[in-house]
Amino acid sequence: MTIEAAFGIPLFLFAAVCLIWLIEIQSIRISIINAAQNAAKSAAEDTAVFPVLNTGKLKTDIVSLIGEERIDRSILKGGSGSISCGKSWISPYTGEMNIIVDYQIQIPLSLFGTPTADMEESFKLSAWTGYRGRGAGGNNSDIVYVTDRGSVYHEDYQCSYLQLSIRMVTAADLEELRNESGGRYYACEKCVYGTAMSGAYITETGDRYHNSLGCSGLKRTIHAVPRSEVSGMGGCSRCSN
Ligand SMILES: [Zn+2]
Ligand SMILES: [Zn+2]
Repeated sequence: MTIEAAFGIPLFLFAAVCLIWLIEIQSIRISIINAAQNAAKSAAEDTAVFPVLNTGKLKTDIVSLIGEERIDRSILKGGSGSISCGKSWISPYTGEMNIIVDYQIQIPLSLFGTPTADMEESFKLSAWTGYRGRGAGGNNSDIVYVTDRGSVYHEDYQCSYLQLSIRMVTAADLEELRNESGGRYYACEKCVYGTAMSGAYITETGDRYHNSLGCSGLKRTIHAVPRSEVSGMGGCSRCSN
């Protein structure tokens, strides 16, 4: 009887504490998702003026919506520093925002070496993009689009190969982020002097980060040319057939 009690009570207490953590994990998840959805709506309004998703501001908005004080009391590892929105991006083609929030939680249980877990919440939201028509005349037009260095022509001016998705990320996120092909981002030779500033501009397909939004590395010059001039070129696999 006493032996059973000696084991039973600590086990019961342990189970109770675990339950409290599970509730806390769920509670912080819901807070983050709610805050992220509200922050994303405000970001969607911003992109109408300036078509770049500012992931640093997104994070600041999420933190202020949840409240610094609530975060500091939570099981988020390192408080608000553990939240990152650096992977979020906006598609210039569909205007759809892909919001991705990464964070780390830590169970304050020194007995098991304070286990941590990486969490990710993601959702999509339509950004305000205004009216979007098909490129002049649609697919049957005699005008096609080429870039300076591209080897294919595009029938659709809105093709995602032509319209780069630029996002603004914090210097801290740059280290972790990888581009579409899994490569790191290096400093742009044209516009980055010294160390990275507080925020940098990147694209999904590029391998450079930029300090200037006006940098030629972030732009593609698109020429509209008659179809007869591109007879030697192949069509883009995404928009031409
Ligand atoms: Zn294309
Ligand atoms: Zn640059």
